[in-house]
Amino acid sequence: MSTSQTLVEQNSLKREFYHLIINGEKVESNNGQTISTYNPATGELVAQVAKASKEDAERAVQAAREAFDHGKWRKYPVGRRAQVLNKIASIMRSRFNEIVELEILDTGKSLSTAQGQVNQAIEDFEFYAGAIVGHRGVVNNMPGQFHNYTEKEPVGVCAQIIPWNYPIMMAAWKIAPAIAVGCSVIVKPASLTPITAIILGEICLEAGVPAGVVNIIPGSGAEVGNYLVEHKQVDKVAFTGSTPIGKDIMNKASNTLKRVTLELGGKSPNIVFEDADLDAAVDGSLYGIFYNSGQSCEARSRLYVHENIYEQFVEKFVSKAKQIKLGNPFDKETHMGAIIDQTQLDVIDGYVQSAIQDGAEVLSGGKAAQVEGFENGFWYEPTVIANVNHSMKVVSEEIFGPVVVIMKFKDEKEAIELANDTEFGLGSAVWSKDGARATRVANEIQAGIVMVNCPFSAMPGTPFGGYKQSGFGRELCIETLDLYTETKSIISYYGNRPLNPLGL
Ligand code: NAP
Repeated sequence: MSTSQTLVEQNSLKREFYHLIINGEKVESNNGQTISTYNPATGELVAQVAKASKEDAERAVQAAREAFDHGKWRKYPVGRRAQVLNKIASIMRSRFNEIVELEILDTGKSLSTAQGQVNQAIEDFEFYAGAIVGHRGVVNNMPGQFHNYTEKEPVGVCAQIIPWNYPIMMAAWKIAPAIAVGCSVIVKPASLTPITAIILGEICLEAGVPAGVVNIIPGSGAEVGNYLVEHKQVDKVAFTGSTPIGKDIMNKASNTLKRVTLELGGKSPNIVFEDADLDAAVDGSLYGIFYNSGQSCEARSRLYVHENIYEQFVEKFVSKAKQIKLGNPFDKETHMGAIIDQTQLDVIDGYVQSAIQDGAEVLSGGKAAQVEGFENGFWYEPTVIANVNHSMKVVSEEIFGPVVVIMKFKDEKEAIELANDTEFGLGSAVWSKDGARATRVANEIQAGIVMVNCPFSAMPGTPFGGYKQSGFGRELCIETLDLYTETKSIISYYGNRPLNPLGL
């Protein structure tokens, strides 16, 4: 029996209580406080989780600092770090079903959605295990007798603050590239969904990541998150979350000139031209908004359809939106899971009500859903809204729920203008069989990601990140490694006559 099989038996991942992970140990918070985490599909308590205080955050910073300044992790040969990353992936794979179950319980998302996200989290570690081996400095062309090369050095201690919509995936997007290059991390999961990030921290330890390199401290964003952002001994903040909090973090991080990367909100356009494969465009557009119950930063929540196919498209789209099945998240027939909590449910409904007051027309959905057997959970109907314009807040603001607005356009120029008429710039999609048109439009859209005849926005290796107020920096790709490193330039002189630049 392998070690990990023994651990599976001894150490069930499903528990009543989850600890913080600080300096390689599972610990309670210093003041004994806990977070109660609930299943959004049922409203039932899932577990208690230790809630980090500022003192716990300070211990985590010191552990990460010690591991970085005096520890062995960043000095390991790169192949050895890669081996540990692969081991993390392999332990996750061996515990796949348990992690999926916990992710569903903590978020209310549907089985296939959770499976896809846990799988991607695993692949992130495998991707960076490979990518890190080829990540290196360069030798630069220099005038004779000078030699210059660069080294990629890990940036140091990184605070990584993540949201509730993709808990394990966001933790993996953050932890994998950072530890691949030799950084130490302190991960602050969202208070609503802390469990799988803790599990991932435990797996890192089991795989051989030394104490202090990966610390996981659920706790209040305003208290513990902010403490990390302002801390002088934290070198970088990588944040994924809402645009207002991102702005606050950037502002505060400027006091210590921390490195900052921000993955923020979106209001992504989805453009369907008259020459698109209609069925593929309908199916891809449904996925684009209703995946993860619309709680996706890159949700394609503004749908623009060419006027010649508008009626036909809308009929098919609405008919299929009405077939989306809400229900037991563990049932593989369920398409769409729950909304994270009552607050978010109210936010979503507030946007729909505002649209109605502004004169919009609800073509399907438009209210909280009643799901048999899950009456105490938080559910919203897949909602399609027409007769809207860009002055309405349902069109301009991020909703973060299963609500799409649908509008007509007359030509390519107007489609591009409408798509770019937003303060955000994260995702976007173009549906057209005309390759030249798709390329022209893709080039004109101001967004970090353009999906052409494709519903998927993120796979390990594809850069993910925003233009404009959707943030900056890219995750999930080779270039992420650069964002966790400093480039050091080393210049040496190899001439045989001593240099005397002052002529003294
Ligand atoms: P949020 O309210 O901004 O919170 C994100 C994280 O920041 C949480 O861990 C939160 O802790 C913490 N936080 C809150 N206030 C803080 C502060 N003052 N200082 C430091 N940290 C603080 O966002 P959310 O509601 O969890 O997530 C939804 C948002 O994330 C949406 O806008 C979505 O578009 C965005 N998102 C973006 C991407 C992307 O890649 N661009 C991906 C996923 C989600 P608490 O949980 O304790 O409040």
